[in-house]
Amino acid sequence: MPVEKVDTLVVGAGQAGVALSEHLSKGGVPHLVLERHRIAERWRSERWDSLVANGPAWHDRFPGLEFSGADPDAFVPKEQVADYFVAYAEKFEAPIRCGVEVKEVRRNAGRPGFRVETSDGVIEANNVVAATGPFQRPVTPAVVPENAGVMQIHSNVYRNPGQLPEGAVLVVGAGSSGVQIADELLRAGKRVYLSVGAHDRPPRAYRGRDFCWWLGVLGKWDAETPGPGTEHVTIAVSGARGGETIDFRRLAARGMTLVGLTQSYVNGTLTFAPDLADNIARGDANYLALLDEADAYVVRNGLDLPDEPEAREIMSDPPCLANPILELNLAGAGITSIIWATGYAVDYSWLKIDAFDEKGRPKHQRGVSVEPGIYFLGLPWQSRRGSSFIWGVWHDAKHLADRISTQHKYLAYHASAKRETENA
Ligand SMILES: Cc1cc2nc3c(=O)[nH]c(=O)nc-3n(C[C@H](O)[C@H](O)[C@H](O)COP(=O)(O)OP(=O)(O)OC[C@H]3O[C@@H](n4cnc5c(N)ncnc54)[C@H](O)[C@@H]3O)c2cc1C
Repeated sequence: MPVEKVDTLVVGAGQAGVALSEHLSKGGVPHLVLERHRIAERWRSERWDSLVANGPAWHDRFPGLEFSGADPDAFVPKEQVADYFVAYAEKFEAPIRCGVEVKEVRRNAGRPGFRVETSDGVIEANNVVAATGPFQRPVTPAVVPENAGVMQIHSNVYRNPGQLPEGAVLVVGAGSSGVQIADELLRAGKRVYLSVGAHDRPPRAYRGRDFCWWLGVLGKWDAETPGPGTEHVTIAVSGARGGETIDFRRLAARGMTLVGLTQSYVNGTLTFAPDLADNIARGDANYLALLDEADAYVVRNGLDLPDEPEAREIMSDPPCLANPILELNLAGAGITSIIWATGYAVDYSWLKIDAFDEKGRPKHQRGVSVEPGIYFLGLPWQSRRGSSFIWGVWHDAKHLADRISTQHKYLAYHASAKRETENA
């Protein structure tokens, strides 16, 4: 059977793969997108049931299509986000083949291109784009042994409160996932401990504008690198219940117990770092700094946005913040489950190309690998802060498609020059 050949093979049909396919189509680059499951699968099967987009519908989308039937200021439920990418792909008839997994990619020996082994046979490609996501492999720190007698899951398999056994729960990590899950569990009547590390917590909205708007006009989505010392700082935002500012003191006032970074476990007892007050103070400082920048922007541009002095009111410290728990016996606290909302790593074990540093991170510039013909898309901070988000990846995809198309034109020129010689 002849081997299938494509110019550019895109691996993964999440938002990144769909965006790239659109730009490659516009540039006339022949390509194929392989997706092992369904389009935007992770939105369907690796997120909790009640998740809505963190940004409003007017913002968390591609430029070419609005969410049908959604109020532009609403936070769209996750299934609708996935449906959006399916509709988007249909709009330009994206060449996406679902249910095909890429198993291995190797460079051809002595000739250009790559040999791609898939679950459905071999494909040869001149270029391969890894669009397999910024958040691929859940990371669970090896703190609590498996046999500790509590249920332990990563946030990517949490679905709803009914999944957990009776008893209290510890949620580790207070980024957008951890804090939203902890809040949902508290509302479901559970006793909840939340382990809070370094975080930014922008206001959901300020002076009548969503934080997505503020980060946009203040140029923060376009920041090209994280600020010094902020590489591991997570962002705590939520679109749940119409969108609310994350306020850890308010969560504590509603009965949640905040603790510092989860450090170690010995004989049924967890130890937390004495950093809770610092982490909360840092989050407050980030919050207030954004209000300051927003106010300065309003003055600078003479905008008529309503004042909101009450946004600066910070509640007094709850007891768990004033006297933080540093040690907690799981059984004593009645904790029967732990949810690790501790983030993700990438996994390119299928890409057998020397395109990675010693930590397994892609060596690239704006997604263009040091290895010719290999590209990455959707990486955190690929070109800017917005890169791993819906609106940001679209722009990175444009850049990659442009680079691929340029190479394609060089090669096409060579081919036509050869044809002319042959015809002479
Ligand atoms: C809980 C959570 C909430 C988020 N909320 C928002 C939000 O509200 N707004 C926003 O802008 N961003 C949000 N993000 C960030 C980001 O938009 C998502 O992570 C998004 O899924 C990234 O899209 P992607 O296409 O880059 O990767 P993915 O969605 O991960 O898509 C990659 C695709 O590649 C496929 N794949 C992987 N390996 C292979 C292989 N070997 N062969 C074939 N196919 C393969 C996968 O099945 C998957 O469909 C959120 C992230 C998380 C974790």
